[in-house]
Amino acid sequence: MARLRIFVRTPPGVAALVLLVGLLFLVVAAPTIWGAGAANSNVAISNQGPSGAHLLGTDALGRDVLDRVLVATRSSLVLAVLATAVGGAIGVTLGALSAVTGRVGARVLGAAINVLLAFPALLLAIFFAVIFGLGSVASVFAVGASFAPGFARLTQTLAASIAERDYIRAARLLGRGRFHIAWRHMLPNVSEPLMLYGTIHVGTAILTLAGLSFLGLGVQPPAYDWGQLLQVGLSQIYLTPAQALGPAGAIVIAGIACNLAGEVLADALSGRQRVRPLRPVPAAPGSRSGGTGLLEVRDLAIELPAAGGVVRPVREVSFDLQPEERLGIVGESGSGKSMTALAIAQLVGDQGRVRADRLSFAGRDLLAEPAKDNAALLGRNMAMIFQDPGEALNPALKIGTQLREPAQVHLGLDRRAAAVRAAASLRSVAIPDVRRRMRQHQHELSGGMKQRVCIAVGLTGEPKLLIADEPTTALDVSVQRQILRLLVQAGEREQTAVLLISHDIAVVSEVCDRILVMYAGYAVEDAPVEALLRAPAHPYTEVLLAASPDMATERGTPLPTLEGRVPGPEVELSGCYFAPRCTYADERCRSERPPLAPLDATRRVACWHPCNVPAPAATRADEIAASR
Ligand code: SF4
Repeated sequence: MARLRIFVRTPPGVAALVLLVGLLFLVVAAPTIWGAGAANSNVAISNQGPSGAHLLGTDALGRDVLDRVLVATRSSLVLAVLATAVGGAIGVTLGALSAVTGRVGARVLGAAINVLLAFPALLLAIFFAVIFGLGSVASVFAVGASFAPGFARLTQTLAASIAERDYIRAARLLGRGRFHIAWRHMLPNVSEPLMLYGTIHVGTAILTLAGLSFLGLGVQPPAYDWGQLLQVGLSQIYLTPAQALGPAGAIVIAGIACNLAGEVLADALSGRQRVRPLRPVPAAPGSRSGGTGLLEVRDLAIELPAAGGVVRPVREVSFDLQPEERLGIVGESGSGKSMTALAIAQLVGDQGRVRADRLSFAGRDLLAEPAKDNAALLGRNMAMIFQDPGEALNPALKIGTQLREPAQVHLGLDRRAAAVRAAASLRSVAIPDVRRRMRQHQHELSGGMKQRVCIAVGLTGEPKLLIADEPTTALDVSVQRQILRLLVQAGEREQTAVLLISHDIAVVSEVCDRILVMYAGYAVEDAPVEALLRAPAHPYTEVLLAASPDMATERGTPLPTLEGRVPGPEVELSGCYFAPRCTYADERCRSERPPLAPLDATRRVACWHPCNVPAPAATRADEIAASR
């Protein structure tokens, strides 16, 4: 609701609101107030021009034209809303169907939608009106059917745009059916633009229905709408032009109201007009103002519903992140590292259940507070950089617009100041010719440059934590290192903590202070980078490092590989999850799960037989026992 306040805070919003309230009043009250004047005929004053008694004159039966225009507001608007609803229902169903049917079905539906879109909506409406017949109900379905291809195409496009999001992938991996995914995961996430499209289309529906009535295919006498009044008025255009101007003006005003409302709604939903800063967020304890940790995670677990019950992609993860620290989370696909990041960012979908003894960010226990109350804190203090910058940047908006937005929303800067901040952000990630780049769209940039822009967008709001989920995987090898260096430099300059998620331990060890290794949803080792590289304690970490070439690796020497696969989130074992692949595994490993326990002052490991650990020095008691 807060976003809808734009309707009373901006001139276009106020204008839209006034027009909509006026139209709504006419829909409700006009037949009662002006119904008699609209119905009473008096042939003695037929076809008269405007006068004090009849501001728009009278029609052929002496009825007041203005009264009839006002009364016709109800039929015109109600039919338009119904036609839009019918078009939306048919179109969204078709669009969603093409997202859930197989490739062949999607192609057939897509081709059919394309063919229908090639025809103007009015032409389609006339075609369907001929099929459905004359009258109000038939015209509603005719116009609805003519709008359906537009709704279907938009639904298709929006569904495709989110089809590869992590939460959709997770639902697919869990074996969720296509209809379930479309209904539960896709449609709710594309409903806002669809509603926006519908709002704007009510204006088009008014026009199209009026067109049908004007052609004699729509509302039939004695019922009437603006289109029919326009038809009657045009027959008298040379004698009493006001008869036609009245309904024509009403159609124009209603169309403007709908389009204006749609535009304002679009601004509200995109947040473009929100220039007021959000409520100030308390500084994170442990930040430069003092305190301990920016992020505290204790026994984090995620449960997702599956066919046979629930699966657990994240089981027991605990770690801390200090302000300005760079922590790398490493593991194979299915280790739970990305899901851990999503849980921290409160982005696990509605279906998922996040549990933790403690999950606090910037001093706030995220699980103790309602998600909506955390939104401002997370939006202001946390930013995410995704794997594919092409998907992360909005293709419809200029780079400058996307950079300005976080500065306006999170820093409360006005448009001009936000533009200056945006340009500075672009320069900070070494993008030349900033003015030109700000005017470009994402498709005009290379992959590396897009990811730099994403880093700049992420840092523009001055977050305390930047989560980068495989930020270089989709990029050319030659630019991966540049991007990582930029990430580190930008983080240092903005004093931002970084959580870098990667399957590549070599990449993470280059830029992070500390590494958390994950396996099958568990954190299995947590250590400073140097200690971990020098003497990995967990057998899995040891294999990961051995499989990662460095400068000392001889060319042509095959790298060791790890046989087997990571146990899936549905697998439940009583012992160590790495045991099936571990060369050190014994009976205890297979029956008892090792906890993540301190190995020394800076390291923790979950293993009964940690490797590379120096044997403890002989104690005085040992020496005495040996001398006997
Ligand atoms: S607990 Fe046993 S099976 Fe698990 S990693 Fe350690 S040695 Fe290997």
